[in-house]
Amino acid sequence: MFRLRRAAVGGTIGLLIGILFTLFVNFVSNTNVSLATLGGPLWVLIAAFLIGLWYAVLFEPHRDNYAENVSTGLVLGIILWFVWAISLQPFLVGKGESWQAVEAITAVPKLITYILQGGLVGFVYGLLFGWLAKSLKLHSTEILGPPEITKRVVIIGGGYAGVSAAQVLEKELAKHPAIGVTLVSQNNFLIHTPMLSEVSASAVNAQNISPSLRSFFKNVQVIQSDIANIDLDKRIVHLRADTRSTKKDLHFDHLILTAGSVPNFFGNKNIEKEAFSFKSLEDATIIRNQIIDMFERADLEPNSEKRKQMLTFVVAGGGFAGVELLGGMNDFARGICFYYPNVNPADVRTVLVHSRERILPELSEALGEFAKEKLIERGVEFQLGVRVTDARPGFVVTGEQEIPSNTFIWTAGNRPSHVLSLLDLPLTKRGQLEVNTALQVLHTDNIWAAGDCAQVPDLTTGKFAPPTAQHALREGKVAGYNVAAALTGKPLKTFKFKTLGSLAALGHQLAVAEVFGRRFSGFFAWLLWRGIYLSKLPTLQKQVRVLLDWILDVFFPPDIVQTINFSQKEREQQRVMTEGNGRSPEVQA
Ligand SMILES: Cc1cc2nc3c(=O)[nH]c(=O)nc-3n(C[C@H](O)[C@H](O)[C@H](O)COP(=O)(O)OP(=O)(O)OC[C@H]3O[C@@H](n4cnc5c(N)ncnc54)[C@H](O)[C@@H]3O)c2cc1C
Repeated sequence: MFRLRRAAVGGTIGLLIGILFTLFVNFVSNTNVSLATLGGPLWVLIAAFLIGLWYAVLFEPHRDNYAENVSTGLVLGIILWFVWAISLQPFLVGKGESWQAVEAITAVPKLITYILQGGLVGFVYGLLFGWLAKSLKLHSTEILGPPEITKRVVIIGGGYAGVSAAQVLEKELAKHPAIGVTLVSQNNFLIHTPMLSEVSASAVNAQNISPSLRSFFKNVQVIQSDIANIDLDKRIVHLRADTRSTKKDLHFDHLILTAGSVPNFFGNKNIEKEAFSFKSLEDATIIRNQIIDMFERADLEPNSEKRKQMLTFVVAGGGFAGVELLGGMNDFARGICFYYPNVNPADVRTVLVHSRERILPELSEALGEFAKEKLIERGVEFQLGVRVTDARPGFVVTGEQEIPSNTFIWTAGNRPSHVLSLLDLPLTKRGQLEVNTALQVLHTDNIWAAGDCAQVPDLTTGKFAPPTAQHALREGKVAGYNVAAALTGKPLKTFKFKTLGSLAALGHQLAVAEVFGRRFSGFFAWLLWRGIYLSKLPTLQKQVRVLLDWILDVFFPPDIVQTINFSQKEREQQRVMTEGNGRSPEVQA
């Protein structure tokens, strides 16, 4: 049945070509070339019909490869000339085949006709192939190769907002293969930020909390790159050029911005230079290695003041990130003292500097107080109502005071990614993009934003949605759905989400939580924290790996393998600088 339909359509195409060919020959006819020399119009039409029919039945033309389609048609023309024009046709009219040289020579004009018609059939069939395959289902669409992308959605950012937007788009646009989705991110993985403090405390391996972006998608194109510029008028995202990538520009029809946030040092260059930040997987890994490095150096340090400076760890910022980081670091630092015979555990100091009187302002006052008391019991010092005003090598400056410390971590402020400054769009006071409840950037029709970089109206509180993973994920879903809706003519959805709750881990078997309005603290809250965030960690593989890390953590002491050797890096830099100067270290010294 399938072949029959193909034969019918191919024969019709051949017949139409034959009619045009007949009209053309009739028009140019002279003593040398006429329909009579070709055996009459009926035989010309029959030949064209047969060529079209056999072409459709026997061949799968190549889309866009016209040369191959035409040459296949030419060869088919020659074969049919032999089989039909000088064999079967004379036989049918009672003449017997015309294989004698003289007869064959008289059939040469027919040969040219067959060849020309064959070539034309190949060309026209190739031209119509996409339509024949898709609309008439005469050929497998697989042969068409990847569908031609006619529209493209570009998502910038591979955090919770970007990944959830891409996932929804992939689902909603499954039946629209001509709409491509591209996700661009600096990293090729998503960071499960609630577990970042577990990495710096050496409780889980860094890669176990970070599923690769490619593992989420089948049809979304993932590009690991930074953004150089965005041209909203021309609808082009320019990727930052580097030696590994040749593709530099991405045209978009819709753009979703989910570039998250970066540390905000409020313009203080000294703090920016001296402090470690705590946003990325790299940051968490560096902090873990810095702690180990300080212990290795303190173990060798004869000067007690310098040793104490090495063993003092300061965190600025008493929000979730700062408190969780400090809780984990405090356990880790105190838990590895036994490896270092020359380190006195009493010299270890962990200090939290916070500008307000209350830590964890996102939680109730009682839970904040509970967290503070428990951490003090574990040896943490609090400097509340105090601001870090400056920093210099080895010292954290808090107004008139200085804390001698070689490890200073800044979690006291965030601002949206620099990507937003590339857009010619108004930003809020906090530097975010203002969006409506459909996540569409105000005064635009094809720019959308979600997550930390967007100021999203919170319909449940009348304020703006807080910068949390649970909000970013849901905002991304709505943004993705609405872009698909805009492309397919469906109504847009409104973002409405009530915070489920907040949880903060404070270190070993200790946490505080407020879930669905109920408060929990201590061991149960810690179990809740682990259960909830393990279930929220994307991909089963990563969940199993983290679970194994936690189980091993119960039975074995903390791992102090230093994966970044700062001393070696310094020596290497020194060597490169010295060689670059063409002078030996001795001469420089
Ligand atoms: C330490 C820490 C702990 C946290 N704990 C919790 C918690 O327990 N619960 C909770 O709900 N929230 C928590 N958060 C907040 C939560 O992580 C954020 O609100 C959430 O990650 C925001 O998601 P996002 O997709 O908007 O941005 P992000 O997750 O920050 O993702 C931004 C993405 O944009 C990409 N990007 C940025 N700039 C560029 C560029 N120039 N070019 C290309 N790509 C770019 C980045 O690579 C990244 O993939 C925590 C945050 C931190 C830092």
